[in-house]
Amino acid sequence: MDITDIQYDGYERVARCRDEESGLHALIAVHDTTLGPALGGMRMWPYTSEDEALTDVLRLYKSAVAETGLGGGKAVIIGDPNKDKSPELFRAMGRFLEALDGKYITAEDMNIGIPDLEIVREETRWVTGLSVEKGSSGNPSPYTALGCLIGLRAVVEEYGADSLEGQHVLIQGVGAVGGRLAVLLKEAGARVTICDINEARVAELCEEHGFESVPELEHLAVECDIYCPCARGAGINDVTIPLLRCKAVAGCANNQLLEPRHAVDLMNRGIVYAPDYVINAGGIINVGVEMTENGYDEGVALKWIERIHGNLKRVFEISRTEGIPTNKAALQLAEARIAEGRS
Ligand code: NAD
Repeated sequence: MDITDIQYDGYERVARCRDEESGLHALIAVHDTTLGPALGGMRMWPYTSEDEALTDVLRLYKSAVAETGLGGGKAVIIGDPNKDKSPELFRAMGRFLEALDGKYITAEDMNIGIPDLEIVREETRWVTGLSVEKGSSGNPSPYTALGCLIGLRAVVEEYGADSLEGQHVLIQGVGAVGGRLAVLLKEAGARVTICDINEARVAELCEEHGFESVPELEHLAVECDIYCPCARGAGINDVTIPLLRCKAVAGCANNQLLEPRHAVDLMNRGIVYAPDYVINAGGIINVGVEMTENGYDEGVALKWIERIHGNLKRVFEISRTEGIPTNKAALQLAEARIAEGRS
């Protein structure tokens, strides 16, 4: 087992973790523990280089904006989730977390599920988001969907509507989060159109809930009030932005902007953009409650998730008053909260 530190300005610790026996090559980033230990998901992805993995692991402001009372952290395992997972790999990851002594607390993220985290837990207690039966907070997806719904209320207010009732929302990707969000939106009186590359899933949801649907390749041509990306990242880019026919882009997918400058392009077109890590924080807020003195309590989690509305309002206000795009406004808010914690 070998931990080496990568020096990176503005980050408390970035650790490279390598274990020859299991083949583990991972990076763990701790942004700032002023507000508390760093909490954030563990992701597995076949990055083509360590630099690519590094870019991903350094996006860490979610916890600070979400007021979880914790800092921002993240772990990435470089590898193919279909081929490279093994109990030895996750046990080695657990030993690295243990070596960081609680500075970083992990949770689920892309390609990492509860069974993987349960193996990590054999080596360290710094794991959240395990099964409800084990006293943990369980699957975060329904809480992410709920938080997104609450955030969408702030979004419609920003473009001048009173409520979600009658608003047309186009959801790209109706998996664990998008599917649940579609149901919540329908209950709130919105008109919901869905698309997914998984056609069977679309058919099943439309039959059960009466949603409208559009083929994935044609979805950007749909005129709607809110375009809600809930699939993969990087969907907002030079090619897609000119095609958008919506008042707002707001959804739970991580890293929606291909590059930060695309938030400026959205702003210039008068499209409200809800920064992904602000509106999709419901899941991390939920697992964060596990770290409170009394342990996990769903009532507390639901109250904290309500704050996403106020957080987005604040981001939109900073953006308007300072004339900056919302992704920059969200960073300012995160940095202000960390500075406040420090003082
Ligand atoms: P998921 O895998 O359950 O669902 C993703 C869905 O998107 C699948 O149904 C898939 O078929 C579909 N999809 C993939 N590519 C597509 C494309 N090009 N067009 C249309 N549909 C496509 O994942 P999830 O847990 O619902 O997460 C969705 C997004 O939200 C991810 O970006 C994830 O990182 C982010 N997120 C999830 C959580 C959570 O609690 N699960 C929390 C924060 C952020």
